[in-house]
Amino acid sequence: MNESSLKKSLSKINIGGLRWFDSIGSTNDEALAWATEGAKDLSIVVADEQTQGRGRLNRRWFTPKGSALAVSLILRPAAPLRPHLSRTVGLAALSIAESCLKLGLAPQIKWPNDILLNGKKTAGILVESVWSGEDVDSLVIGMGINVYKSSVPPAEFLQFPATSLEDALENEPKREEILLSILTAFIRWRERIGSDELIDAWEEALAFRGEQVEVKGGGEVPVIGRVDGLESDGSLRLKDLHDNSMIVRFGDVSLRPAA
Ligand code: ADP
Repeated sequence: MNESSLKKSLSKINIGGLRWFDSIGSTNDEALAWATEGAKDLSIVVADEQTQGRGRLNRRWFTPKGSALAVSLILRPAAPLRPHLSRTVGLAALSIAESCLKLGLAPQIKWPNDILLNGKKTAGILVESVWSGEDVDSLVIGMGINVYKSSVPPAEFLQFPATSLEDALENEPKREEILLSILTAFIRWRERIGSDELIDAWEEALAFRGEQVEVKGGGEVPVIGRVDGLESDGSLRLKDLHDNSMIVRFGDVSLRPAA
């Protein structure tokens, strides 16, 4: 993939603008700055390498050169979309999952922000916002997708096992085609962001459904329960041993299978 092959692929959809980098610190940082300068809705930052890629809480996200998709998408939500912004991470996760499905793979969404193939992390999402007073002016959705085997970090850097699309596919994947497929799904799902259908599809794709998991939040005692489903705002619903519901809201939470 290079700038011209990417432009050619993305000419099939309506995006707000494109900034391509051979190498960058973080595509989300660039997109946040561009959003502040007035980027149009659906403007996209893509890089062939990230040297300071971020996960949540400034954890590192690895994007070695030529190996992965590092993409940040800028959204300027119109008024009707605003009540549903808490579903944004699900919208992105579902779009990545759907493009994996199209490749014949069996993706699962590890709530809230990771896509798994064969139980291993293949993609991560980081949603950040630009505020204007009390309102969200724009959202930046960072997506890191491990396309080739060379994108998978060494095991000692990981708390959760990782894999790539190439590991799971017979034919070599093409990054610009995968990105086109993700963005096409994203644009389609965004029109239905407020629908029950979106929550149903997201719930359907959840990893560990019916299984015991442990959800750790910032410093609090971990919550342990069986994955039951999603609330309408995208919060995770677990069931305890007595079948009582426990709701886990977004924030910096990490979900793992219970020991
Ligand atoms: P989690 O949801 O697993 O708690 P984050 O979503 O914050 O974590 O993602 C950051 C973490 O992902 C890093 O701490 C690192 O362990 C892992 N990681 C970093 N780069 C990659 C990658 N390319 N593929 C898979 N996992 C990665």
